[in-house]
Amino acid sequence: MSKSLQAIRGMNDILPEQTPAWRYLENTLVSLLDGYGYREIRLPIVEYTELFARGIGEGTDVVDKEMYTFLDRNEESLTLRPEGTAGCVRAVLEHGLSGGGQVQKLWYAGPMFRYEKPQKGRYRQFHQVGVEAFNLPGPDVDAELIVLTWRLWKQLGLADAVTLQLNSLGSSEARAAYRDALVAYLQERFDQLDEDSQRRLTTNPLRILDSKNEQTQALLVGAPTLSDYLDEESRQHFEGVKARLDAAGIRYEINHKLVRGLDYYNRTVFEWVTDKLGAQGTVCAGGRYDGLVGQLGGKPTPGVGFAMGVERLVLLLETLELLPAELNRAAEVYVCAFGEAAELAALALAERLRDQLPGLRLLVNSGGGSFKSQFKKADKSGARYALILGEDELAARVVGCKPLRDDSEQQSIAWDALAEHLAGRLQRG
Ligand code: ATP
Ligand code: MG
Repeated sequence: MSKSLQAIRGMNDILPEQTPAWRYLENTLVSLLDGYGYREIRLPIVEYTELFARGIGEGTDVVDKEMYTFLDRNEESLTLRPEGTAGCVRAVLEHGLSGGGQVQKLWYAGPMFRYEKPQKGRYRQFHQVGVEAFNLPGPDVDAELIVLTWRLWKQLGLADAVTLQLNSLGSSEARAAYRDALVAYLQERFDQLDEDSQRRLTTNPLRILDSKNEQTQALLVGAPTLSDYLDEESRQHFEGVKARLDAAGIRYEINHKLVRGLDYYNRTVFEWVTDKLGAQGTVCAGGRYDGLVGQLGGKPTPGVGFAMGVERLVLLLETLELLPAELNRAAEVYVCAFGEAAELAALALAERLRDQLPGLRLLVNSGGGSFKSQFKKADKSGARYALILGEDELAARVVGCKPLRDDSEQQSIAWDALAEHLAGRLQRG
């Protein structure tokens, strides 16, 4: 027997039971972004590998270990996007959207791909909603991004479930100076570092700061801290962000070890973290990346953004039972028809009802069946009324309207009066 076909490990089907939750989250987020003036951009899922190598940076886990890269039939190296910022910047440059200092406030949503170890909250195909703002150098927009995510948490009922971690990485010069100091400090203690951190000491030393290894963390207690290396402008920028968060009443925790996995950040970095999901607790992460546009060949252009992990947020909403009950909305009306002639009339009647009562959730019985089996399906659909159409009803141009959720009597309603009858009934709740 042939092996049954399966989805790729870490790449999930989102089943019909789950899609309402996804849509609820996406719709809430989209109308919120709309309200803040952010516009959607749709980007390809596949880009030239070079974009990510240059944008995210060699030496990062994402580029070195996690990318799905392949040669196409034309021998060009392509990569399934591991994140959205690089592609967004590429598109902005390609279409001149940031030229002449134009402000752009953009968002995108969709699947991202990383070859990671699949586990709860960590998949190989996962989904992000990302937001990016260009040509705004000040702390006001950093704060705006955080404020709008805070509003989302409040709307979703998650305000008590997440905390904000904040840090500033300073200018790239300040960061470089800090990197040297950190490397010098750790080099002297090289033998005590875990293997991963030893490797990172040459590839991406700042990442050692968020090592999960206890001995490495103990070593870091005496290490130089990034905040001591902040340049004056970055310090002021950071003060500006904090002042705005204070004004908006948003609490935060300064985390000097927050450096983010991707190489392109400078100044503000932040993460929204929950302790309700176990190890994969970051649900939204972002920061400023003033150097990225230049790095990808554009004129120096300030940029700042974040991405949230849709799977983790859906998991969090499910875990905390915060999904509104009305997400799985039952049918309102179920049409039962008996015999070919009645089926034809039922179809026409149903379509007329849909015209007359837009948005009506109406199911027409499919596949025929006895009285008993059709009523069973009507009941299971959750509908409040079954409409019954047999030979007698057809002859009299009426339907039987049978309440399914209370004991009231079945009524016979003329076809022409049916829309009005149902409208009245369904509204009465
Ligand atoms: P982590 O430290 O959890 O690996 P990251 O720093 O690699 O996260 P980002 O690149 O900043 O993550 O992505 C932003 C958000 O996307 C994360 O905070 C998380 O919510 C989500 N995310 C990242 N990788 C995955 C994944 N493999 N599966 C599910 N969600 C993910
Ligand atoms: Mg990661």
